Amino acid sequence: MKKIAVIGAGIVGITTAFELASIGNHVTVFEQNSAGAEEASFANGCVFSPGFVTPWVAPGLPRTLLSKLFREHSPVRIGGLGGKELAWISKWRAACKMDSYLVHRSQLHNLASFSNEVFKDLTRRMSLDYEHSKGFMVLYRGPEEQKSAQRILQSYKEMGVPFLEISAEKARILEPALNLETKIQGGLYFPEDQIANCRQFALMLKDECEKLGVRFEFNSNVKPLSSAQPTLVQTQRSETRFDAVVICAGIRSAEILAPIGIKVPMLPVYGYSLSAAVREAIDAPLSGLIDDRHKVTISRIGQRIRVSGIAQIGGSAKVQSQAAFNTLYKVLNDWFPGAAKTSENVQEWKGARAMLPEGIPLIGACKVPGVWLNIGHGSSGWTLSCGAARALANLIDGRLPGTNLIGFGMSRLD
Ligand SMILES: Cc1cc2nc3c(=O)[nH]c(=O)nc-3n(C[C@H](O)[C@H](O)[C@H](O)COP(=O)(O)OP(=O)(O)OC[C@H]3O[C@@H](n4cnc5c(N)ncnc54)[C@H](O)[C@@H]3O)c2cc1C
Repeated sequence: MKKIAVIGAGIVGITTAFELASIGNHVTVFEQNSAGAEEASFANGCVFSPGFVTPWVAPGLPRTLLSKLFREHSPVRIGGLGGKELAWISKWRAACKMDSYLVHRSQLHNLASFSNEVFKDLTRRMSLDYEHSKGFMVLYRGPEEQKSAQRILQSYKEMGVPFLEISAEKARILEPALNLETKIQGGLYFPEDQIANCRQFALMLKDECEKLGVRFEFNSNVKPLSSAQPTLVQTQRSETRFDAVVICAGIRSAEILAPIGIKVPMLPVYGYSLSAAVREAIDAPLSGLIDDRHKVTISRIGQRIRVSGIAQIGGSAKVQSQAAFNTLYKVLNDWFPGAAKTSENVQEWKGARAMLPEGIPLIGACKVPGVWLNIGHGSSGWTLSCGAARALANLIDGRLPGTNLIGFGMSRLD
């Protein structure tokens, strides 16, 4: 039995704490906020997508995004470009090649499929109710999007991803409330993917953690690790030595690791979401979809609709872009007009995806003994969380991870 600190109580920290405690460790979670899942895990798109999960390094993506950058409803926005952003963009552009994309896509798919198995196991064992619905659809508005997707469908088949190519008619059967006036060229349907409320799941799993004896130290801001004593956790109130420290601190992970000589090229890629109550159930989505042109997802979570998207590079977490929200409202209105109460009590939110240039996380030991990483989950942290947590807990326990973690280790930063 080890005494282990987990830094961060987002979805990744909570799932990691749960897995570590399940195999008998004594776990303390340190969180700077007064509750769990208050940062990136707060109001994300809720797409739990082992089939669709994709690293944001598709070949041709830089050119496509650049061509859309100055359009009114661009999926990408620039909030300001400094040296850090430019260095990251240069690494990201280098990763946007077909061969590395296919490798990373396959690695993500493996981990996400494992995550799906772990997730099903957890929800079944503990009877967790987490506002979910089955199936996820990709919708193409025009031939250009459909043509560009064709280039990667063969790889989906080779990986054994369960999906169907669907016509406009089939899309409208699956989601009967889709607006007849918005043209559908075609799409993909992932029957095994689902919509599930990330924050709700995280908070329920936190309760399960406490039943296993996990201690949550909220309002505890962990200082960057010290190179003299890397497993000493220092907050504004306490100093405690642990056998192991697991970094799950989302976008702040790089700053916590810097003093021990670990340089992580992580960038916040900001995204936006809005959540509104369903106005008329008959007009609302049954599950979830992504508008491929705008890269905006629309998800049904219980009696609410969540619309999410936009990749903003640079700028501040606190300054919200009204133009970004306008795009989310527009896409919602294009597909499901009248479905949501958008004139009252809408929750508008901006969060940061902790993104590494290759679009896949770092999971495993770091070069400093006793310090472990579960960071950089970018746009898919909810989907990957349960699998990443179990695999890492197995490694910390000296076992095989349970899934193939090649490609997720620190060595790729060398
Ligand atoms: C707009 C948007 C939409 C998204 N949609 C999806 C989706 O549909 N599907 C999907 O799979 N993923 C999605 N994601 C990605 C997913 O939300 C993230 O990858 C995931 O939430 C990351 O979880 P995390 O626990 O690593 O980070 P976080 O949730 O940010 O948690 C990190 C925690 O660490 C704490 N912390 C940081 N530093 C310290 C410190 N020094 N001391 C103490 N505590 C600290 C923070 O307060 C925070 O609570 C989306 C992200 C965004 C922004």
